[in-house]
Amino acid sequence: MNKLEGLTASDGSAVGPLFIREQSSYETSSKQVSLDEVPQEIQHYQRALEAYEHELEQLLIKLRGTASEIIKSQSLILQDEQIKGEIINSIRTNVVSASYAIDQVYELYIGRLRDSASNLFRQRIIDLITIKDRLVKLAAAYSEHSKSDEQADTKLEIPVSIDSTPQIRGCIVVARDLSPTEVVQLSESKVMGIVLEKGGLTAHAAIVAQSLNIPCLVQIGTQIQHISSGRIGIIDGEEGVLLVDPSPETIREYKTKISDAQVAKKKIKPSRLPAITKDGKRVQVHANIEFIQELPMASSYRAEGIGLVRTEGLLYGGLTHKSEKEQDVYYRRLLDDSTGPVVIRLFDVGGDKLHGFTTEESNPFLGWRGIRMLLDEKEMLHSQLRSILKCTQDYPDRIRILVPMVTNIEEIHLLKEELSIVKSELIKEGFTQVQDVPLGIMVEVPAVAVMADKFAKEVDFFSIGTNDLTQYTLAVDRTNDQVGRLFEHDHPAIWKLVQQIQLAAQNEDIEVSVCGELASTLLGASGLIGLGIRNLSMKPSAILTVKKWIHTYTLSEFELFASKIVKVQDREQVHQLFSTIFHRS
Ligand code: PEP
Ligand code: MG
Repeated sequence: MNKLEGLTASDGSAVGPLFIREQSSYETSSKQVSLDEVPQEIQHYQRALEAYEHELEQLLIKLRGTASEIIKSQSLILQDEQIKGEIINSIRTNVVSASYAIDQVYELYIGRLRDSASNLFRQRIIDLITIKDRLVKLAAAYSEHSKSDEQADTKLEIPVSIDSTPQIRGCIVVARDLSPTEVVQLSESKVMGIVLEKGGLTAHAAIVAQSLNIPCLVQIGTQIQHISSGRIGIIDGEEGVLLVDPSPETIREYKTKISDAQVAKKKIKPSRLPAITKDGKRVQVHANIEFIQELPMASSYRAEGIGLVRTEGLLYGGLTHKSEKEQDVYYRRLLDDSTGPVVIRLFDVGGDKLHGFTTEESNPFLGWRGIRMLLDEKEMLHSQLRSILKCTQDYPDRIRILVPMVTNIEEIHLLKEELSIVKSELIKEGFTQVQDVPLGIMVEVPAVAVMADKFAKEVDFFSIGTNDLTQYTLAVDRTNDQVGRLFEHDHPAIWKLVQQIQLAAQNEDIEVSVCGELASTLLGASGLIGLGIRNLSMKPSAILTVKKWIHTYTLSEFELFASKIVKVQDREQVHQLFSTIFHRS
């Protein structure tokens, strides 16, 4: 049996034959055409566009939340006026086939992304490649179809988009990389799991796999290239490994484990599962939301509030997209469709968050991001603050404001000034019932964690962002595949910082929650509760499992674990302690 190590991008385990998906290849139809054929080639391109757009619309019906936004952004690329103009121009001026022009123009953009310093942009190359490949195939098919006289009256058979062949049903699909569209299509074909040679945890393919509940490993490495289709594989999502050629006994063991997990999941009755430790200590479990469409899942899993609203989704497609009025609608829906407190984070633009707005920076994570940018872009800040404050009139005591990427106390003072300017403006305009809202900060920069005692005197609550806190503490770019293995959010250094933050909050009697990914893992939740955190916020899909876990152990077991992980020297030891204390094999 071979054991290949990767990273778990979407939880769960799977057993099945491996299906190695070769990189797609296609033939661009002959490059040069005659002048007479130019109008027809333009038509082939336009028909290919329409057909592809239709396919994306069909996919959208099946997706929700972030995953659906990703497909929408693919559709935006497809309809980009500049790209469309360049393709049509190329067909006309170079007198070439539609498929050739598509290939050339998209390659140009792909080349630019490859040269980009941003790893996030490079991860999006796969989106452009997918769009290009599909468009080329469709345009070539229309072109072939029109050439053949006998077929003139027959309906065009659109080429199959991805391995929708029956043999991949029930398989674990292994590929170098996949686009989000391909992941959706694979889920249609009922694949058991996905393993990617490359890919990052924030890659679109990974996000879509999570949304569709398909177990997925990324960064399994080139070792996978020596493995052929048909061999049996096991994805172990807990360990982040792929087992190849396991023994019949191991297969049996995993199959049992998987079906037990399925049965257990079905048994969990959300309404009967408060987040209480075995000995009765209460823990609040809230949901992290980016898109309104995620709210039904949060409420069906009985999230007691929304612990983090990532509002950057409002900026998809550019900063001018969402006016104050549109934001009003968004926040109102957010509050209507949820219960409990709603923590709205101000736009966290910059770093890994796409915006197409900030200037080129050699190191965006250390650059013009979050509050730094908001304090410079007053119009954007004011529109968001106005919209949120107006909402407080109709949803009293439910809204909190969270400030991203704070590094200095001064930033909090400046923001408070802006808040009071906005509030007085609104009162003058007749919004006399606007309330003051609790103001909190993301603790995600080590300087704030280290000086948490000072920051705790300035704000109403802390929300610990372990994703960025890990990135900045361990000096690991959270989007860089090459150093993905070093992104250890459960590293003892992080635990020590969390301990310090929690104590500072306790001393000043302010609330502290954790909204980074760490809170959604069993190990993470155990350590955090043990350190005294009583509010965890996580992606909706993790809520049930974490609640059930909290239910299974006593506070003293969590405290025992926490007391030890702040003292050990590496992550390995943290995991060993977790296995020993919670009897996890
Ligand atoms: C974090 O940094 O931990 C966090 C929750 O925010 P985001 O992942 O949106 O940066
Ligand atoms: Mg963050």
